[in-house]
Amino acid sequence: MSADIKALDAPVTDLKGVGEALALKLARLRLETVADLLFHLPLRYQDRTRITPIGTLRAGHEAVIEGEVVAGEVVRGRRRSLLVRMRDESGILSLRFFHFSPAQQQQFHPGARVRAFGEARAGATGLELYHPEYRLLSSDAPPVEDHLTPIYPTTEGLHQSRLRALIDQALTCLESAPEALPDWIPASLRERFGLPELHACLITLHRPPPDADPDGLADGRHPASRRLALEELLAHRLSLREVRRHIQQDGAPPLPSGRNLQARFLTQLPFALTGAQRRVLDEIGVDLAREIPMLRLVQGDVGSGKTVVAAMAALSALAGNCQAAMMAPTELLAEQHYRTFRDWFAPLGIEVAWLAGKLKGKARLDTKAAIQDGRVRMVVGTHALFQGDVHFQRLGLAIIDEQHRFGVHQRLALREKGEAGGLTPHQLVMTATPIPRTLAMSVYADLDVSVIDELPPGRTPVKTVAMPDERRPDVVARIRHACVEGRQAYWVCTLIEESEALQCQAAEATRDELVEALPELAVGLVHGRMKAAEKAAVMAEFHAGELDLLVATTVIEVGVDVPNASLMIIENPERLGLSQLHQLRGRVGRGSAESFCVLLYRGPLSAHSRQRLAVMRDTTDGFRIAEKDLELRGPGEVLGTRQTGLAQMKIADLERDADLLPRVSPLAEALLAQHPEASRPLIRRWLGEQAGRYGQV
Ligand code: ADP
Ligand code: MG
Repeated sequence: MSADIKALDAPVTDLKGVGEALALKLARLRLETVADLLFHLPLRYQDRTRITPIGTLRAGHEAVIEGEVVAGEVVRGRRRSLLVRMRDESGILSLRFFHFSPAQQQQFHPGARVRAFGEARAGATGLELYHPEYRLLSSDAPPVEDHLTPIYPTTEGLHQSRLRALIDQALTCLESAPEALPDWIPASLRERFGLPELHACLITLHRPPPDADPDGLADGRHPASRRLALEELLAHRLSLREVRRHIQQDGAPPLPSGRNLQARFLTQLPFALTGAQRRVLDEIGVDLAREIPMLRLVQGDVGSGKTVVAAMAALSALAGNCQAAMMAPTELLAEQHYRTFRDWFAPLGIEVAWLAGKLKGKARLDTKAAIQDGRVRMVVGTHALFQGDVHFQRLGLAIIDEQHRFGVHQRLALREKGEAGGLTPHQLVMTATPIPRTLAMSVYADLDVSVIDELPPGRTPVKTVAMPDERRPDVVARIRHACVEGRQAYWVCTLIEESEALQCQAAEATRDELVEALPELAVGLVHGRMKAAEKAAVMAEFHAGELDLLVATTVIEVGVDVPNASLMIIENPERLGLSQLHQLRGRVGRGSAESFCVLLYRGPLSAHSRQRLAVMRDTTDGFRIAEKDLELRGPGEVLGTRQTGLAQMKIADLERDADLLPRVSPLAEALLAQHPEASRPLIRRWLGEQAGRYGQV
């Protein structure tokens, strides 16, 4: 038996007939071991378990038919082909071959019995099967298949039949040594959660009985595939838990104080914190005071005031003799945060440094040196901050803004950054994407979550209207009116063309058009192809009120904060996701003036687009918008999970299997409580050897 047990994690080359060349092809499908073959599931199934009477066949159906050859002849239509007329008691049809040999032609003599499998099409002679698989039958016909025929995902040069035979071998290994593939979800939990047993699931999926529903099997609704999907989601969740455990094995600098510094900061702020901000800061404060790294996500709708929360947390780090770093996803936003922090911290005598990819030469070297020797303790920047060549003297807190895409890899990499001081920094991630709780638990299973569920007082919700492009002149008049009264406006040009260059050109053309239409206004432009310094200069002018109208591409989507701007025009809003529109719209409604957002669409709108724009018109609640967005576009798009492990799942699908999510967490907790030893093997099974070591995805 032990030889067989070894066989499941044995390389595929241990199987009969697998040499180097075939192993390479299998490797392209990430099939390296015998067990990998067992988890390589069919895309769909064919039913070859019964013979379909020709008379009942319909175009578009795949079926096995059996009958007698009436005539076989070469015909010259548009293309030369071999046409074989066949009949059974119920009807008549043709097999058609465009490529054929003389020997094949001979086979189909009148009276020969043939069994064929293929998809029926409506052809020149009625129903036809093009290039069917077929065999000539002698007197005793072999039985039909006794299970549905699986069609596997494959790769060039690897035939279905070959792959099927290899999986047969793997299934035989499994049969002879079932203990080699343990079901890590023990019977007691399977019973509690209503899950079928692992081996039965695999056998059903690879070799389904004739009465199984092939469509349900193929699209993941069958209990066997649901069980595997749940196991995969479970493995992902366990791996995130492991990442958390791994990071929290290290020590972090405890940052208990900071109250004095924070109090001095608050007295010079022009506003008081909201209750929600104070509550979240308390939660952060408890984490920071501990000697293990904080791993906390702060969710708060656009405009809920996350930046000041970040600043307060940073002050705790500084008061604790550590450095703090704040990372933003774009240069534009990093620049803005830099200015905010500089203004806020100057009265406290705290210097703030800026580091981004575009900072070059001596300035860059100087900044890096100051970070390394601890002369600066507050740093703001882009991802450049956390690259290999930046060394901190003693980084106590890393803040990541507007980055739900900041994945587990990056979180693990951050551990290295506190190194010089021998400690791992606390981590604070901030996002404006409010997502439903069960989904959050899957995506952020390694983070604690705090929610800022209150907007600062005095905000009036943004009024949103949708207008067709024909009403552009009215919209322009509206801008004139608002700006003459001292308010400011954004005009956002969205991506029509795929290329950024074209998008920027379009923004330039719009700027020119608006300059002409509004000669009395100062009009500026920012787009993604401008130099960082140019962009920053334009933003500074807009901030200072020197520009009335800012024409922009979606570079201003995240985080930009100019409270005096109270009108926003969004062109072609029908092309953007709802969450993105919500982010854009969040640039207005930040001050006390009543704000407006005009969705300037190009008609006619599809029913779907109209529905989406209606959502924007009807609500400003980010949570509801996110839910709608998830419903309309799916979680992959909305969360950017593409870049995380959840995107590369083999079987589970966040969208299709959304209803499984609420079961993942209780199952994980139960498993960890009763069978903690099952965690690593499950992670290894679904996420690979490397992840199994400490749950990295
Ligand atoms: P976001 O959560 O979208 O990042 P910001 O941190 O940019 O929001 O804050 C939005 C605006 O609200 C900023 O101008 C900020 O100064 C202001 N703000 C933040 N907190 C408060 C508060 N408690 N009272 C009044 N204004 C606030
Ligand atoms: Mg922000």
